[in-house]
Amino acid sequence: MNIWQIIARLLPFVKPYKLLVFISLVLTLIGAVAAQINPLVLRYTVDTIQQLLNEGRTEQGSASLFLYISAILFGKELINIAVRYGQSMLGERIRVNLSSQLSQYAVEKILTYKYAFFVDDENATGKLQTRIDRGAESLTRFVQRIFIDLLPLFANAILALFIMFHANFYVGLIASIVMPIYFLLSWQQAGMLKGVRRGLRTLRETKTNGLFNIIESIIVIKSFVREEYEREKQARLQRNLIDAQLRQRKTNYVFDALKSFAEQVGVTLIIILTSYLVLDGQMSIGSIMFHILLFNNVSAPIRQLHRIYDEINEAMTYAEGFFEVLDADSAIEESGDITIENLYGTFELKNVNFTYPNGTPALFDVSMKIPHGKTVAFVGLSGAGKSTLLNLLCKFYAPTGGKITLDGKNLHDYDTHLLRRKIGLVLQKNHIFKGSIEENIRYGNMNASFAEVREAAKKAYLHEQIEQLPDKYETDAQQLSGGQQQRIAIARLFLKDPPIIFLDEPTASLDAIATEQIKNSLDAIKADRTTVVISHSISQIIDSDVIFVLKEGRVVESGTHEELYNNNGTYKEIFNASARSLNLGRISKTLR
Ligand code: ADP
Repeated sequence: MNIWQIIARLLPFVKPYKLLVFISLVLTLIGAVAAQINPLVLRYTVDTIQQLLNEGRTEQGSASLFLYISAILFGKELINIAVRYGQSMLGERIRVNLSSQLSQYAVEKILTYKYAFFVDDENATGKLQTRIDRGAESLTRFVQRIFIDLLPLFANAILALFIMFHANFYVGLIASIVMPIYFLLSWQQAGMLKGVRRGLRTLRETKTNGLFNIIESIIVIKSFVREEYEREKQARLQRNLIDAQLRQRKTNYVFDALKSFAEQVGVTLIIILTSYLVLDGQMSIGSIMFHILLFNNVSAPIRQLHRIYDEINEAMTYAEGFFEVLDADSAIEESGDITIENLYGTFELKNVNFTYPNGTPALFDVSMKIPHGKTVAFVGLSGAGKSTLLNLLCKFYAPTGGKITLDGKNLHDYDTHLLRRKIGLVLQKNHIFKGSIEENIRYGNMNASFAEVREAAKKAYLHEQIEQLPDKYETDAQQLSGGQQQRIAIARLFLKDPPIIFLDEPTASLDAIATEQIKNSLDAIKADRTTVVISHSISQIIDSDVIFVLKEGRVVESGTHEELYNNNGTYKEIFNASARSLNLGRISKTLR
């Protein structure tokens, strides 16, 4: 992206503040004019003094001169203060508004993206967040730089140059000849710093991550006695960081010196030329200072050029990533327009094939019927495709071949949001948001009263435990144990009260007591609903109305527990292995 493309993309976001921008531009112009007053006043002062000296000084003449220039200079300074105040306030207002608009827009946009977008490696949580945060931040800084630094400085410089040319063409010419040299040097400096800065940034990120990793894995580090190794790894990073920082300093030092020299050459040439013109009688003596001060106005912005250039470059790098996230229109979730009035809840899959967007094939020619009001189980080894099937049923992905219908109509044609309102999904680990237990349960139904939240917690065997906590329902939900968090997920399900329920190993990470209680609550909610269960625990699937056995993405068997067991196939193998792993022999002896 180049600078114009960025500006074009930002325009819609800046548009609501066009009045602010306009006022800011007017202030810029006033500021630029005010900046030229010093040289003008100085020339006037010197020339008047010269005149007074030549004509014989009068008390009245010098008094009125002092009064006159004091009034102008103070007046100018007051205007200057007002202009700068106005500019920074306006700039800040534009910046803050723009920043919040960009972030909000990004959030709104990615919320419309489909699940697959977030699963993509490119969009891993950290990466996506960095792209959005950095993008919004550097774009905002870009706008701020333009309004607060670039425009005022350049308006100032152009006006000063214009006045110089107007006063004397040759002096103006000298002032403008120095500019390309300056530009060239700044450009080179920014170019060299770009590499160094990028390296520095990566090193800093690695260092932060390094510390984070140490804290995160401290137990492994300590148990393997790897303190020394980690220490050395960090020390190496620090050394590289120091090297890079010094390199940056050196580059800056060399270029700053070169630019300072070029500026000095400019000043010297102007002094020589103006002195010559004064001696030649073509200029008044006040013009020497006049031109030097004007030249200072011309070179001041260019002195900052490399910094501005650098930041604009950075903005361009991040802007690209930012707008890429915003432009991922192909990631927008598709939705049909079939609304759901009386959902019956029968799914049918016909010859469904599915390959993940990254090319991993996961399902082959899957056909099955998940009848309304029944409980269906998916059984199979890890990686067989069970969760993938649920993903398709939730419309997180569309099948790459074949067809899925719900109550006879293509799943693809249903309104996605309405469909998901009818589905309750409980996973092995469910996200608990930062907030109280009450808020977390209410996620299942935002309009639920507190009494309803409590009722749901009771059904999920959670209420009594909550009552024992000092802050009860106000307790921070993220502090709860894994089992309790899982119960929150189930309480959400009770509150949502959906006609279709998908359970993906809901008790896999729980202890025996929790598993039993949660199984009881799930058994209660399953009645009269279309339910799909994935579980490695035989007890959870044995009562299902139909069991589908998956192997390497295909359905290899289906039927009730008894039918499948007598089939002597994959199901029996899994069942027997599961029973052996439980050491059923010993258990039954104990129980006898
Ligand atoms: P199960 O639930 O039976 O353990 P999955 O449905 O999770 O199996 O996985 C089936 C296959 O799909 C596996 O080969 C797995 O590696 C692959 N897979 C699962 N999720 C993704 C994904 N998001 N992207 C690419 N491949 C995936």
